[in-house]
Amino acid sequence: MQQRLLFLGPPGAGKGTQAIRLCNRNGLSHLSTGDLLRAEVKAATPLGIETAEIMDKGELVSDSLVLSIVEKRLSDLHGGWLLDGFPRTLPQAESLEVLLEQINQPIDAVVLIELNDEVLIERLLARGRSDDDEAVIRHRLRLYQEKTAPLVDHYNKQGLVKTIEGDGDIEAIASRIEESLK
Ligand code: AMP
Repeated sequence: MQQRLLFLGPPGAGKGTQAIRLCNRNGLSHLSTGDLLRAEVKAATPLGIETAEIMDKGELVSDSLVLSIVEKRLSDLHGGWLLDGFPRTLPQAESLEVLLEQINQPIDAVVLIELNDEVLIERLLARGRSDDDEAVIRHRLRLYQEKTAPLVDHYNKQGLVKTIEGDGDIEAIASRIEESLK
């Protein structure tokens, strides 16, 4: 199976759930910038205090801050990995490419999980995280379209994108993903 992966898709598409499952089954390291940021918030580190409000509003944390977190972790990874929720902007994608070139670990595939907005909103409201209020959700979806969706084109040009229909039960989606990565 392909070993160096990005997961792309709107908030609520099931990236986190599928990423954890795929990593457990295939021995990949899971790196979620959202999880790393939430851990900083919980521990009330200076970085967490700086980002809590941004996250609660559904805004994106600055590229430089996210990169500083990822950079440290990436260089420590051995074997296969899956980046979940990163990159989210073109500048992040470009910086990631430079980093990966330095460690000679190119991306093998980009898994794009697609789902329509109505289902996404329903799922996110049911999840009930502190950034899952309806107005904030709509803002996050808008930001996804504006800042993150252009990455699909970017990676399509490199022939890396595997598009997965994100509706259906967890197992069915997991099989679609594994099949696409063979
Ligand atoms: P997630 O768990 O991926 O939905 O991320 C939760 C929140 O963390 C996002 O709404 C952003 O505020 C922040 N965040 C996570 N990853 C990134 C990223 N790569 N760039 C900017 N902000 C991020």
